[in-house]
Amino acid sequence: MQTLNVDVAVIGAGTAGLAAYRAVKAKGLSAVIIEGGAYGTTCARVGCMPSKLLIAAADAAFEARHTAPFGVHVDGAVRIAGAEVMDRVRRERDRFVGFVVKGVETIPHDDKLVGHARFIDNTVLEVGGHTEVHVRRVVIATGSSPKIAAPFRELGDRLIVNDDVFGWHDLPESVAVFGPGVIGLELGQALSRLGVRVRLFGKRCTVGPLTDPAVRAVALKAFSGEFAFDADAKVLDMQKDGEQAVLRFIDHDGREVTERFDYVLAATGREANVHHLGLENTTLELDKNGVPVFDKETLQCGASPVFIAGDANNFLPLLHEAADEGKTAGDNAANYPCVKPGHRRATIGVVFSDPQIAMVGQRYADLEEGRFVTGEVSFEDQGRSRVMLKNKGLMHVYADKDTGRFLGAEWLGPRAENIAHTLAWACQMRLTVKEMLDMPFYHPVIEEGLRTALRDAAAKLAE
Ligand SMILES: Cc1cc2nc3c(=O)[nH]c(=O)nc-3n(C[C@H](O)[C@H](O)[C@H](O)COP(=O)(O)OP(=O)(O)OC[C@H]3O[C@@H](n4cnc5c(N)ncnc54)[C@H](O)[C@@H]3O)c2cc1C
Repeated sequence: MQTLNVDVAVIGAGTAGLAAYRAVKAKGLSAVIIEGGAYGTTCARVGCMPSKLLIAAADAAFEARHTAPFGVHVDGAVRIAGAEVMDRVRRERDRFVGFVVKGVETIPHDDKLVGHARFIDNTVLEVGGHTEVHVRRVVIATGSSPKIAAPFRELGDRLIVNDDVFGWHDLPESVAVFGPGVIGLELGQALSRLGVRVRLFGKRCTVGPLTDPAVRAVALKAFSGEFAFDADAKVLDMQKDGEQAVLRFIDHDGREVTERFDYVLAATGREANVHHLGLENTTLELDKNGVPVFDKETLQCGASPVFIAGDANNFLPLLHEAADEGKTAGDNAANYPCVKPGHRRATIGVVFSDPQIAMVGQRYADLEEGRFVTGEVSFEDQGRSRVMLKNKGLMHVYADKDTGRFLGAEWLGPRAENIAHTLAWACQMRLTVKEMLDMPFYHPVIEEGLRTALRDAAAKLAE
């Protein structure tokens, strides 16, 4: 076993870990970045990018099949060549991964360690059984993995997670998707649009990250109108039978149904990769999920020289948050014991379903009852949305009753990814509804729908 002495060890070479490593090096300290899996990051290899590539193909198929209401007819069938779809997904994905790997190659050889890291104590790590690393500070940036409940394990090789989908060389005939969260909804709808028979199973009628009941109800109607979606499924039995999974369940009409699928995709949440880190050998306080208790502004775990960033801390599992948190954790690890709050932006989240779902600022579930008003717009009759036949969805914007300040929004609607940015900027600038209405709105655009919701909020504030 070799011994290494460095100022800072970063565990995990994903988005957060790479940002942390670069921040530490920029301060002139010695650092090592430890990676136990493949280089390339979750985002590029099995996350944001391949999922959006699959969705792009699915949307192309959907649009080609839905031209008739415009008087534009595609004569003949729209043919989806599964092998070609998956070839493009993998090819482009590999291109994105290639850029990340190129970046990793610029890191000096001596700063990289390959192997899984485990804590021996707060400042000593054992890596891959070959190296003991003595450090002054540590950044944990180990990401997250799909959470799989025991009954799914019975399905053997019929059980898949998102990582498996992006390795496919062709599209299967059928997939049962469990979990209508961000990943299940995006992949379930995309596969369905690509001609795969999909049934999406949910619990307690949740849809994506939505917490506003009215918006959620509209989302439920939109998605269950497009593909089989049991939002509050009662699954009686799951078994592997040869090359298929057999599911017995009570459907939304109360009937017992047995349906066979090529695969069952478990998209039932993700858990932080902290369970094999030997945290029991440290003095760190752990929460009920086994994640070190940390400060959300500084990312420091208690008063220790250990910091935790990205999906590993289970707080805001999004790419831009991982990058920001990695930088903060790296800066603070370098400057320890002088730690400072990092830059926290207004929260923003987008689900790349169709219609898209977006959340900005405070969630409905976190608002204090009686202290806010809700401005609303339905996209059904919104001018530009109707022109483009994208007129589905409902937007709620929330404003503080006393100050008129914009607090947040939840919605389902066209081009939500763009409007979400406008709203996140307004939120971060702490604008009031009046100040937002003083801003320009072009015509005819979907943002005029946002203006309708803001005007509704303004009227309620004036009551
Ligand atoms: C299907 C899918 C779609 C997504 N889409 C979006 C999206 O559209 N927009 C968005 O903002 N976010 C999206 N995300 C989330 C986003 O990908 C993550 O938030 C982000 O990649 C997390 O980065 P990270 O650095 O925390 O973790 P990772 O990139 O996962 O890096 C963690 C690294 O740590 C390594 N590691 C773990 N344990 C150890 C150990 N003990 N020793 C050494 N190394 C270890 C792992 O091998 C891994 O390389 C998506 C995620 C998925 C799965």
